[in-house]
This record gives sequence, C-alpha cells and structure tokens, in this order.
Amino acid sequence: MNPGVPTLTDYLTREGCEAAGARAYEMVRELYPICRSITGAGVRQTLAIAGRRIPLQVHEVPSGKPVFDWEVPQEWNIRDAYIGTADGRRVVDFRESNLHIVSYSEPVRARMPLAELRPHLHSLPDAPDRIPYRTSYYRRNWGFCLRHRDLMALPDGEYDVCIDSDLQAGSLTYAECFLPGESTEEVIVSTHVCHPSLANDNASGIAVACELAAALAQSARRYSYRFIFIPGTIGAITWLAENEASVGRIAHGLVIGLLGDPGPLTYKRSARGDAAVDRAAVHVVKTLDSRSRVEDFSPYGYDERQFCSPGFNLPVGRLTRSANGAYPEYHSSGDDLKLVQAQYLAESLCAAARIVQALDSDARYVNTAPKCEPQLGKRGLYRVTGGQSPSGREHALLWILNQADGRRSLLDIAERAGMPFTVIRSAADELLHAGLLRAAETRSELS
Ligand code: ZN
Repeated sequence: MNPGVPTLTDYLTREGCEAAGARAYEMVRELYPICRSITGAGVRQTLAIAGRRIPLQVHEVPSGKPVFDWEVPQEWNIRDAYIGTADGRRVVDFRESNLHIVSYSEPVRARMPLAELRPHLHSLPDAPDRIPYRTSYYRRNWGFCLRHRDLMALPDGEYDVCIDSDLQAGSLTYAECFLPGESTEEVIVSTHVCHPSLANDNASGIAVACELAAALAQSARRYSYRFIFIPGTIGAITWLAENEASVGRIAHGLVIGLLGDPGPLTYKRSARGDAAVDRAAVHVVKTLDSRSRVEDFSPYGYDERQFCSPGFNLPVGRLTRSANGAYPEYHSSGDDLKLVQAQYLAESLCAAARIVQALDSDARYVNTAPKCEPQLGKRGLYRVTGGQSPSGREHALLWILNQADGRRSLLDIAERAGMPFTVIRSAADELLHAGLLRAAETRSELS
C-alpha cells in the first residue's frame, strides 16, 4: 500500500471525498475536449489518460467480429470537418466543437446548395443556443449539428462541405482494471467511454470509476473487482460476448455514469429487482441523500440493458445522478464543464464507495452476551457521564447487540435501525474487538 494514497475508508464520508471530487473534476476537464466515439483514436486516448491513474488492460476486438446478434463495427476516425461559404469562411467548424459532427459520419467533399445540405443539419429549436449531440453508428450517413440560432441565420447559397473522416476495418477498444480479492467472485463496475465533448455524460463516470478503482487498489478486498471501460451498447455486447464463459463469477455489478450534475442520486434496480446490490444501493442512496430516487428496472437506459438481458440476468444495477434524458442539457453542448461540479462528483463517489463497502463487508454475527444488555461502560464502549441521549454510534451498538442472532446481516440491521451501513459496520468492529460478537459459524447457522 502506498502511504498518502486514499483507501475506500477515506471515501465513506462526504468530507473524505472532497479531495477526490476535485481530482475527478480535473480528470473530467482533461477528458472533455477529446472526440470520442464507439471506436477510434478518441477512445484510446481516453483509456491512456485513465491508465495513468489506475492499472488498465486494453483490449482490441477486430471489426467484423460477430458478437451475439451484432457485429463489431468498422473503426471511425476523424481529423477535420466544416461547412464553408463560397468565400472560404467556416460557418460550422469541427475544430470549434466536436459536437458539430454527427458521430460516424462518412467522408464527404462536396459543394451543394443549402436546400440539399439542409437534411444533413441537426439543431434544437427548443434550445437554440445549444449544439445537439447526434450519432449514426449503424446506418452510413453524414451530418452536422449546430445551434438552431446559427442554422436560422444561414443564407441561401452554395456551401462547401468537408468531412475528413474514415471508416475502415480496425477494432473496438475497451479496457479493464482488475483488482483480485480474497474471493474469485467479482464485483463489476462499468462505465462508458464513447461520448465526445459532454462532461456529465460520459466523462464524469470515467473519472469516478478511476477514483474508486484507485482507492480499492489500496484497500483490503473480499471480492475481486473488475472495472470495465466500454463504449455504450456495442461495448457491453462485445464485452459480454468475449467474457461469456466467466460471467458466472459476477456476484454484484454496477453501471455508473452521469455522476457530476446537480440532480439527486438515482439508483435503478437490476432486472431481478431484489439482488444484494439493489438492497445495498437503495440503502446507501436513501441514507446519503434525502432527495435520492430509486427507479425500477426498465429495458432502456445504459448498459444495464445488456447485463440484465434475459440470457444473462446479472445482478447489475445503475447509479447516476440525473438519469439519461432527464436533464435539460442532456446530449447537447449544455452538458459542459459548468454543469459538472466537484462537490457532486465527491458525493457520487461517496455513494459508490458506501455501496461497495456494504457489498464487500456485510456479514452475520452472533451476540456472545445476549441475556440483557452487556455492560458497555466497563468495556469503554459507552459514554461515561449518564443522562445524555445516546449518540448515533451508541445506538448502533445497541441495535447490533439486539439483532445479531447469526441470521440477520449487518445490512439487515442497518435497514431496521434506519442507520447508515457504514456506522453499523464500524460499531460491529468495536463489538468484535470487545469480544461481544462472534462471526456466525456456518452458512447453515444462517438459515
Ligand atoms: Zn449519452
């Protein structure tokens, strides 16, 4: 372990996450300008930045490879794109914002009148100062996105259209950070690496995943952890196709993203609905953020769609702040470095760390002195001056002593007590140290 590098324990309080939130924001700022797509140089550049923070293994899957009902697409790269006037002025310029180009646009060099160009132009009439984000991954096409205000101001006439891109056989790039634990059972955490200059969607998820993985790398781990950095949809499908034989090791999973905006913490349940990760995550977001929301599964959204497809039905939920499509700046140039703030990244990281802690350290214990309350004061566990109300910590001690029967887990006790798991866990550690708890011996003792 490296002294000075945070551990998971440092991330269990909002205050403890403050510095990490600031670091994550700096990473969002570094990732923001890169033109990412589902394949290509932008993904590799992004993974190289993440790889400076955590150990990453990068995988390249060749174009054309069948992955379930899909196929790994051709690789797309772009150098420049613009719409120019006859006198050589760029009225739409990729160099000003990479959102100006429809992702996966095929190469074009042409001169055409505005009427012919118009079907290739996308804007947001209801948000005329924002550039929309659009893609055409699976149908060959080309197009530009621009502010509606600028579109309305384009005079009739001839325009030069240039898209200096290529679509050719290459590969789909994804990466994993694998952290072995005591058990070969795994917790997977996946996030997207396919969006261009949008700060909340996807850069915030990448940055939070890196901070969490860096802290876990410095922490004792019961489970093994696999952080997966993949392009949306096709990346998850490709990853599942490449790893089908080993998905049985996945004990719990979280899709994370959209973690830097001011919206409340939002947890979306797995398709199972009652997996351990669902219980842990619902408990954490409810105890951390009074505004938090819990959504039931639906087969739309992020990569939970693939992980929870019926042929896999993995115990994978999703943690975001605002959900996809549920904030006004979503998929537009309004999703920028002003929308994302370090304090929200910090709180998201705290939530993710607490979910991981609940999964990794939930356990069942037996009270070794169950007849009446054991005297805590003589063991240094209780306040010395009487008459005051017990503190949260003291309540936690009493709840555990009352409930630890070898069948109820610490998460069960945290739920019943209405107290954060992290408080219950540290109180249990004190009771274990004092000999007032012992581990439940066998699984059969639990039934
Ligand atoms: Zn998106």
